[in-house]
Parts: sequence; C-alpha cells; structure tokens
Amino acid sequence: MFSDKDISHFANLETPFYFYDLTLLQKTLSTCADAAKLYNFHVHYAMKANFNERVLEKIKDTGFGADCVSGGEVSKAIEVGFKKNQVVFAGVGKSDKEINGALDNDIFCFNVESIQELEVINELAGKKNKKARVAIRINPNVDAHTHHNITTGLDENKFGINSWDLPLCAETLKKSANLEFLGIHFHIGSQITNLDVYKNLCVRVNEFAAWFEERGFTVKVLNVGGGLGIDYHNPEQQIPDFGAYFKIFSEFLNVRSNQEVHFELGRALVGQSSSLISKVLYVKNGKKKNFIILDAGMTELMRPALYQAYHKISNISKLAEADAVKYDVVGPICESTDCFGKEVELPTTLRGDLIALNSTGAYGEVMASHYNLRENIVSVYNTDI
Ligand SMILES: *Cc1c(COP(=O)(O)O)cnc(C)c1O
Repeated sequence: MFSDKDISHFANLETPFYFYDLTLLQKTLSTCADAAKLYNFHVHYAMKANFNERVLEKIKDTGFGADCVSGGEVSKAIEVGFKKNQVVFAGVGKSDKEINGALDNDIFCFNVESIQELEVINELAGKKNKKARVAIRINPNVDAHTHHNITTGLDENKFGINSWDLPLCAETLKKSANLEFLGIHFHIGSQITNLDVYKNLCVRVNEFAAWFEERGFTVKVLNVGGGLGIDYHNPEQQIPDFGAYFKIFSEFLNVRSNQEVHFELGRALVGQSSSLISKVLYVKNGKKKNFIILDAGMTELMRPALYQAYHKISNISKLAEADAVKYDVVGPICESTDCFGKEVELPTTLRGDLIALNSTGAYGEVMASHYNLRENIVSVYNTDI
C-alpha cells in the first residue's frame, strides 16, 4: 500500500499528516463511473466525506455531481467547478440563508426533509420569483444493519419525512406554486456492507414511487442515497465492489425509461485512498497494558472517539517484522476516548517508529479540530513524491 519510496520520503516529513494516494483514488473513481454507466445511473459525490481540494478536483473531473449538506458545501462545490445542475442539497436543518444561497445558484435539487421546510423553500423561492426543484427525502424505516450512530433510515432517526406524513406532504406540494416536484430521495445510513439491505430499500422505493404516481405526481428522479461501506479490516482490498452494488438496484428497482436513478456515494469513493501517518512519541510498558502514544490524536482522526470506529493500525517502520506485542494505541489529547485501538498486535515498537492508521480518506481530515489548540493537519500526495 505504501511504496518504499513513499516510506523513505515520510522519514523527512513532520508528522502527523494525511497521506493521499491519488492514483488509487483515480482508479476507484473510474471503476465506479464505468460500473454506473452500464445502467445509466447518475452518481453524486457526498462532499462531507472529504472536501480536500485535490480530491474534489479529481471527482469533478470524473463527471460526478456533488451532494451537499450545508451552504458552505454548496458554495465550495460550485467554486471548484461542479456543474450547478449537478448539485443537490440535503440536510434536516437548512437555514434561510443557506436556502437563499442555493436558490441564487440555481442548484439542481433540494432534498427536503420536513413539511415545514417545503413551506419555507416555497416562500423563499416565491420572493425571488423562482421555482425550486425539490425531491422528498423519505424515511423508509429500513434497517441498515450498521453502527447505531451512523444509521439514518429508521423511524427513530431525525432524517427525512415519515411515511404517515406523506399525505400532508403531497397536499403541500400541490398547493406550492414555487416548488417543482422532481422525485423521491432516501439515505438509510453509512458503512453498509450487507448488500441485502439495499434490496429491502429498493422494495420500499418502488412502493413510495408508486404512491406518488397514483396521486398524479411524475417521479422523474429516484435518489437512493449512498452508504456503501469499505473493508476497514483489509485496507489492501482497496476498491469496493461497485459492480455488485449497482447490479442490485438494476435488478430490484422499477425504473421507467424516462426516470433517472441517482446515487450519493461518499465513503466508498474516497475511504481507502488516504492514511493518517503518525510517529510514536513514547512507549509506556505497564503491568497490565503497554501503551503506544502517538503524535496524532482524535483532533486529527475523530472516528474512533466518536463512534468506536475501527482503523487498521500498522507499524510501517517495521513492516518486515513478525513478532507481536499487544499495545493500546492512543493519542496525546486529554480525553480517555482518545484511543485508536486496544490490544492491537504490532511488532515491538519504539519511539520514532512511523505508524499508519489506514482507510482514513472518508470522515477523517474533514473532522479535524483545533481542540487543545492543535495545529492544522497537513496533507501529502503520492503524486508529489
Ligand atoms: C453522508 C451522506 C451520504 C454519503 O454517505 P456515505 O456513507 O459516505 O456513502 C449520502 N447522502 C446523504 C444525504 C448523506 O448525508
């Protein structure tokens, strides 16, 4: 995963830093684009997974659209050159300012998450003499079988409009002169590795599409969201099986010839293309535990502290060595949850060794913070070495 050249270059750099394999990113994007093309599916990249500009540049050049969840992301997407008619805007709490900004930019579609939001968008669009294109984000009550902190499509989640509110939603759409109904939207969770979940989603999408059409609406867009997972335990398994993923939708979704199917992939596109490279500051050998203390912490990579996420940890200074000692690998931040892994088997590790936290391309750099007045995290690209 790291070339000898990469590793010898790392020795000259100040740590910690995010290392990006832009060659792998390119391969992942092309594989996804080719697989989607087979069925004429449209892909929007979920920008919140990673908004590093070098990464965005490649994704834009692949021809994907942008799926945004804030006004800041909408502006950034347009600034880096995503086409306005390929920008969609989701989120349960869009402010008036964010809605107005997106209306001024004539984005492709708002994915609307409540009836009150429909009314607000209609009113704000009216003031501008515009028609806002909207899709209804429906909460389909489908269990994504993923970590409870990253599931979004169950009745108890805050996202989307629940099925029992759809009659009122349809009424609101019909009387809103400044809204144009485009279709329906779903996003049931993240890091989904059991593809059967998507079969269940398709069944629900078909039901909801039929429901709207029976009431006189034309459903032009079926947006099934994202959530496809990556293999954190085997980071060398680098490119997700986009073929198998899209095939499920082609088999189980009822799609009319004039309907478009949209996807919003984040993690699967960028997750494996980056690692957080850190240096061992100290090794503390205790009676019950051995600790490796890194110069990277939850301020650089928050996922383990936030939802007990697993990242494979490797000692890249000792790749050839096989002996195994168990360590708790922790960061320097003054929080007990600042821990990357417990009882991790690694070769005997010394101060100064380089440690890679693998598969950090999604929800890594974007969640970095200045807690403890930590410095900005730096990024390094394989193509610049
Ligand atoms: C986060 C998000 C996505 C992408 O999720 P991944 O698990 O990274 O694929 C897609 N759609 C919406 C609405 C999101 O909020």
